[in-house]
Amino acid sequence: MRGKFKSVYIGIDDTDSRRGMCTTYLVKVLVEKLKDLGVDLIGPPRLVRLNPNIPWKTRGNGAVCIRVGKGYGEKKVVGEIEGEKIYAFRYGKDVNIDLNDIIPLLKNYFVLEDSTTNPGIVTSKRKLPEWLYWKAVRDVVDIALVERLLEENDAKFFKFKNGRGIIGASAAIAWRAKKFTYELLTYLPENKWEEERYIDKNSVIDMDKKTKYTFDNYDYENNYIAISPHSKTPVLFGIRGLHPEELIRAKDMVKSTPYNAWFIFLTNQGTDEHLVKRKIKNVKPYQNVILRGKIVEEARRIEGGHTIFKIEDSTGKIDCAAYEPTKNFRNIIEKLRVGDEVEVYGSVRDEPRTINIEKIRIRRLAEVKVKVANPRCPKCGRRMESIGKGKGYRCRRCGIKLPEEAAEFKILEREIKEGWYEVPVIARRHLSMPLKIKGMKSFKMF
Ligand code: ATP
Repeated sequence: MRGKFKSVYIGIDDTDSRRGMCTTYLVKVLVEKLKDLGVDLIGPPRLVRLNPNIPWKTRGNGAVCIRVGKGYGEKKVVGEIEGEKIYAFRYGKDVNIDLNDIIPLLKNYFVLEDSTTNPGIVTSKRKLPEWLYWKAVRDVVDIALVERLLEENDAKFFKFKNGRGIIGASAAIAWRAKKFTYELLTYLPENKWEEERYIDKNSVIDMDKKTKYTFDNYDYENNYIAISPHSKTPVLFGIRGLHPEELIRAKDMVKSTPYNAWFIFLTNQGTDEHLVKRKIKNVKPYQNVILRGKIVEEARRIEGGHTIFKIEDSTGKIDCAAYEPTKNFRNIIEKLRVGDEVEVYGSVRDEPRTINIEKIRIRRLAEVKVKVANPRCPKCGRRMESIGKGKGYRCRRCGIKLPEEAAEFKILEREIKEGWYEVPVIARRHLSMPLKIKGMKSFKMF
């Protein structure tokens, strides 16, 4: 793509492997190069999470997008590279960029030897249709459809290997950020990526307590730092939140291995945008759903420590699961009783067809009666005897029979309350809205 544009959107996806790299790092590489060419960021970089239930994702199914041009108007700090501040501008005007010079630069970072890495880069002078984002965050998108759409919209794409990354890259350009949060990511120098890194646990806890708008920093129940990635990627840590300026302060509270760059991304994390209300009979594999129903089979623990129960609505029944990694969340699930009305939030597993729960809302607890004694004989007043399971009672002396319901019951005092429950931070998905931020609004950067 060569020529004069007001601004250009660049979307990138599927460049990394499970063992290393991180697609967000390419934003740093790109911005550094573009800065030398006199090209600015228009708006903050974007990290867009897509369907978390796609089997071919590497980790968190994230794609990135930046808008570049000649910036003017208000500007905000969105990052720093080796001590130099990086700004994003509110508006962009015409600029000359030859993206053909830039692609080879990015290619150096692709983990092409990994069989599941299929990078895609998309450039477009305008935003792509919004429906593409919704389909990619909630469903499965076909690459041929994306290619057609890109051609129709005069966008360019670069595919490496099977090029599946153009799906995520395009969806990232299509995101309108109606609901959003931020994540500030810190990056290690390239010669430190393979080395051991260090994050001071107490400083993370301190940061978590001293900030108002950050979320998912630390799992107090499981004693787990949730801001650092599991593998040795360029990312040292990432702090999520609703307030970009607070995030900049928050990063300085974390004591860690030194890093030489950081960026704030605008993201769809914590928005629940992957979830769709459905009836049980319409549930399909790879979707993420909200189902409302009644418990028809109480939770049982199966091998591996997973907890499974069954719900029913007017269209059918389905198993729901709180898997072992959800830890104490399983104890809540095990307190549900037949007849409780719930709303289950989670992703659909194909085989066996199960909902992997992220969150649950207990809408109404059923009145659960437990038998405390056999009934008394209405004639002689003595306790009656059971005839057999489900067959009722008989008085030995008088021969009078009474049905099962005649026994003495008490209302069970329930150990849980109606309301919301979520999996612990350690098991949280990027797109899941934590209860901590429910009903809160993110601060606008511009
Ligand atoms: P990381 O989070 O470490 O960057 P990842 O988990 O994002 O990695 P990718 O390596 O990006 O995983 O792989 C996801 C792949 O799935 C990409 O090629 C992306 O284009 C594609 N993809 C994303 N969403 C969908 C979807 N809804 N339908 C079909 N393909 C999708």
